[in-house]
Amino acid sequence: MPPFYITTPIYYVNALPHLGTFYSTVVADALARYHRARGDRTFFLTGLDEHGLKIQRIAEERGLKPQVYADGIADKFRETWQRMEISNDRFIRTTDPDHHAAVAEMWRRMRAKGDIYPAEYDGLYCVGCEESKTEDEVVIEGGEKLCPIHRKPVEKVKEKNYFFNLKKYAPYLLDLYKRPDFIRPESRRNEVASFVASGLRDISVSRLKKSVGWGIPVPDDPDHVVYVWVDALINYVTALGGPEAVARGDSDGDGALWAGAHHLIAKDILRFHAVYWPAMLESAGLPPPKGIFCHGYLTVKGQKISKSIPATRVDPNAIVAELGDTFVDPLRYFVLREYTLGGDGDFTYESLFQRYESDLGNDLGNLLNRTISMAHRYVEGKVDRFAPDPNALPFKLEAEAAWADFAPSRALEATWKLVRATNQYIEKSAPWALAKSPEYRPGLLDVLGRCLEALRWSALMIAPAMPNVANEILRQLGREEDAGTWPETWAWPGGNLTQPKPIFPRIEPERQASLIAKWMPAEAPLSPTSASASASTSGAPVAASPPAEIAIDDFAKIDLRVAKVVAAERVAKSDKLLKLTLDVGGEPRTVVSGIAAAYQPEQLVGRTVIYLANLKPAKICGVVSQGMILAAGDADVLALSALDREVPPGTRVR
Ligand SMILES: [Zn+2]
Repeated sequence: MPPFYITTPIYYVNALPHLGTFYSTVVADALARYHRARGDRTFFLTGLDEHGLKIQRIAEERGLKPQVYADGIADKFRETWQRMEISNDRFIRTTDPDHHAAVAEMWRRMRAKGDIYPAEYDGLYCVGCEESKTEDEVVIEGGEKLCPIHRKPVEKVKEKNYFFNLKKYAPYLLDLYKRPDFIRPESRRNEVASFVASGLRDISVSRLKKSVGWGIPVPDDPDHVVYVWVDALINYVTALGGPEAVARGDSDGDGALWAGAHHLIAKDILRFHAVYWPAMLESAGLPPPKGIFCHGYLTVKGQKISKSIPATRVDPNAIVAELGDTFVDPLRYFVLREYTLGGDGDFTYESLFQRYESDLGNDLGNLLNRTISMAHRYVEGKVDRFAPDPNALPFKLEAEAAWADFAPSRALEATWKLVRATNQYIEKSAPWALAKSPEYRPGLLDVLGRCLEALRWSALMIAPAMPNVANEILRQLGREEDAGTWPETWAWPGGNLTQPKPIFPRIEPERQASLIAKWMPAEAPLSPTSASASASTSGAPVAASPPAEIAIDDFAKIDLRVAKVVAAERVAKSDKLLKLTLDVGGEPRTVVSGIAAAYQPEQLVGRTVIYLANLKPAKICGVVSQGMILAAGDADVLALSALDREVPPGTRVR
């Protein structure tokens, strides 16, 4: 079997762990656990990216040395991953000494190949992205050049840098993308291939030390530090012993693991991993990784995760702090089962609790509880026979194929087919009826043995997602010695059954509601500030009486923004509603607005409006509306809000 080496992105230390990093890390962990259970040689790497101008500035703002600041963040990540049962083999930091050595070695190799050369850099740089921008990439607003992602002015940089000859590697890269599994999903591969085919430019791979001090020095030229992204990517090689070990691929060391290297990434860092990184490796005489798997973004109730929107700050630590460490596994299960790896997904606490109740409580928990209870009640807990289950093997093979294919959601779905089929089998074979007569005892034992074996298989098959739950099920079955293996043959081997103990205690609806209220603070509803201002979301008439007085603090809860309508269309089966797509400076927003009687869709495109950004999203005629735009009028819309001069979308209105 080839080795399995899985990496997460190394997370930039400008943020603490959140739903997005939790998701990437849990996916990598589950894949690593699956491969270990199959007996594959496995290595799982996660860690932190600590260098760069952004970190230097954050630390300066706090009056800290960058290393001290990074140490504090590193502690938080380590604690979190430990708590979340993340089984990484190493937690790498780009400030680790062996990483410095690996970066220097990679640099020397690329330079020896003739791919690194000094030249004058004269261009634009976004510190938020830690990436240079071309004139085509920036947006110009109010005479300023802004990063299209951060909406902040890019910085002009003019200095002597070292460049990497990326252009030279275009044919190599295009050839590499022909490998079917090199970049997944396929849509991402096509995106990268067309980017490379449209022409590459050489990239700057260093900065002057006097402008960016926080980084790894360029070998033999201490006036320069290595560009933070070049530094960061090399971590994947550092962890296996550095470029030398990987180039040798020696099977007694970790170098051989490189043959099974898979980078799990989010789509915003695809270009670095799929273009720069393989070119750097080829230049340094190292083979490319085996594959790059790109997952989508998670939104929270339809909204992009953002530090400025409190309700989108889903904190796995806060959830577990409230519900206890036994909720770690359910939370892991939820993100693995709910989202198809590769696509985008939406998080809601309601669906988290729903899956907890249905998949875990009703299906798996119930199967465990009733099986062990019946075994004690009817046969004194001694079961030494079993019936075969013709479906178990196909379900297992389905799960294996899915894990091997980076599809945890499908793998768990296949596992649950076994769980649900076994619950149905209990209903059909009615052990309670068989228990009434001694002559049915062999049949009763067969039924119970089949259920116990199904539970044993299920425990082993859920273990990549829920290691603690798996261990607890095995403990109750008296099969602790099976932990860490994958089911092979269908044969209940016997076990000292313990007394049944519920593993998924019910969370009462009232408690669920109060937790959701705590985690998702209700957004302030828009109170019309004058008799003529009308909410246009639903087209509902506004009360005629003037609303109660509010304090300035109440108004401060309202997040009003300048928005530009980029698309408008009628909502099917409604003569009142239009669906608008708004540019508000970040991800586009969708708003359903009750203005169809007053405006034609084509009248709206290109128009600037005032947008209420932090209104709780609502589903209107099947469309999720994220906020609303302001309009004048009572029952009928009379006019839309507007501004008297042009300002960039996303600008605050107050
Ligand atoms: Zn940026």
